[in-house]
Amino acid sequence: MAKRMLSEFESYDLLKQYGVPVPEHAIVKTVAEAGKMADKIGFPVVMKIHSPQIVHKSDAGGVIVSISSKQAAEEAFNKIVANAKAYNPEAEIKGVIVEQQAAPGLELIIGGKTDPAFGKVLTFGMGGTLVELMKDVTLRILPVSEEEIRVMVREIHGYPMIQGYRGSKPRDEETLVQVMWAINRFFAENTNVVEFDINPVRLYESGACIVDARIFID
Ligand code: ADP
Ligand code: MG
Repeated sequence: MAKRMLSEFESYDLLKQYGVPVPEHAIVKTVAEAGKMADKIGFPVVMKIHSPQIVHKSDAGGVIVSISSKQAAEEAFNKIVANAKAYNPEAEIKGVIVEQQAAPGLELIIGGKTDPAFGKVLTFGMGGTLVELMKDVTLRILPVSEEEIRVMVREIHGYPMIQGYRGSKPRDEETLVQVMWAINRFFAENTNVVEFDINPVRLYESGACIVDARIFID
């Protein structure tokens, strides 16, 4: 199976068409463009490597967050490109993605895979490095209804974190359901999409935003 990974940029554009909230973003190819684009998007910004060969961008030193000036954006461009080249000299560096920095929120994961026996499967769970270790995840074989998505949201162990745990305010469960519903439609309608991983989705008291996406097509 010759799977191809779409870049974060391509993945955002595809998901956006389904109404999934993505940060404002653009690809830049030079130091000067990096500074200008960061200024245009507004600080702080996050910058990340854009290369088909680099799957886990952080592992390559390819993600810099909290960039708060034009000069810092220019420096970040050079640093990210240098780190990526050192990490994988063979990698084709197509540029750097500059994005609006999303506020911190409750981190969740939405994913999809194709099981040889059951076909497409939608997964949902708590994000954040520690929680990921505990595998607080639920899944459903497609087709999945909106009602079933509501049940998925409520059945993970971390659901109290969404409801508002120990005095913290409740998160926007309705938006989460709508984001999962949109992602489910994207998965069902694109027959060539075999796997995807949206990690993380940030959920707020009002609204949500995804800040990373990997889609594999076949
Ligand atoms: P990786 O390919 O390593 O998974 P990510 O795109 O997930 O790279 O970036 C690593 C981390 O940086 C994310 O998990 C998130 O915490 C933070 N991050 C990335 N993009 C943004 C953004 N637009 N706004 C806020 N935080 C971000
Ligand atoms: Mg990620």
